[in-house]
Amino acid sequence: MRLKQIKLAGFKSFVDPTAFDVPSQLVGVVGPNGCGKSNIMDAVRWVLGESKASELRGESMQDVIFNGASERKPAVRASVELVFDNSLGRIGGSWGQYAELSVKRVLSRDGQSNYFINNQSVRRRDVHDMFLGTGLGPRAYAIIGQGMISRIIEARPEEVRVFLEEAAGVSKYKERRRETGNR
Ligand code: ATP
Ligand code: MG
Repeated sequence: MRLKQIKLAGFKSFVDPTAFDVPSQLVGVVGPNGCGKSNIMDAVRWVLGESKASELRGESMQDVIFNGASERKPAVRASVELVFDNSLGRIGGSWGQYAELSVKRVLSRDGQSNYFINNQSVRRRDVHDMFLGTGLGPRAYAIIGQGMISRIIEARPEEVRVFLEEAAGVSKYKERRRETGNR
């Protein structure tokens, strides 16, 4: 599974529709302070279901919507889409048949948040389930943010276990067992 493209519109400083291609395994993003580099990673964690505004460096979730500039009106909605190559079938289940998967989240100013997988309207939960066991999620280890390495080094054994279970692919079975009430 590989991230191929990130599309943003109305998200933080990316007011105009912007598409970033991710051409290879290693990509660097460079630019002056405040140009929006971290906003791109915020966007990725946001689509994956991050629901805490402070994790996205805002006070409320609506802070991810472009809030206007001297000559630009605030945007009415924020939208971010990630396109993944799933030709190796890393994401299985009902989505396993697709060689390409798009995950999109849209938030309007009235607070309505919608998720889509391959343009089908889904629940946040479906996005969560799709990535469970792949290491990718708003707080999973595929995204290593600032300060995360020291957080893992200093983590309590129970917290380290959560990462190990995700890496070993156990977490999705544990979650299913919890849901069926068999602890
Ligand atoms: P640094 O090199 O300092 O880490 P950076 O490239 O990571 O900088 P970001 O933190 O991604 O920069 O971007 C910050 C910019 O995004 C600021 O100019 C801020 O005003 C802008 N920004 C954040 N949220 C919004 C919003 N809702 N609407 C418009 N602009 C926003
Ligand atoms: Mg930054």
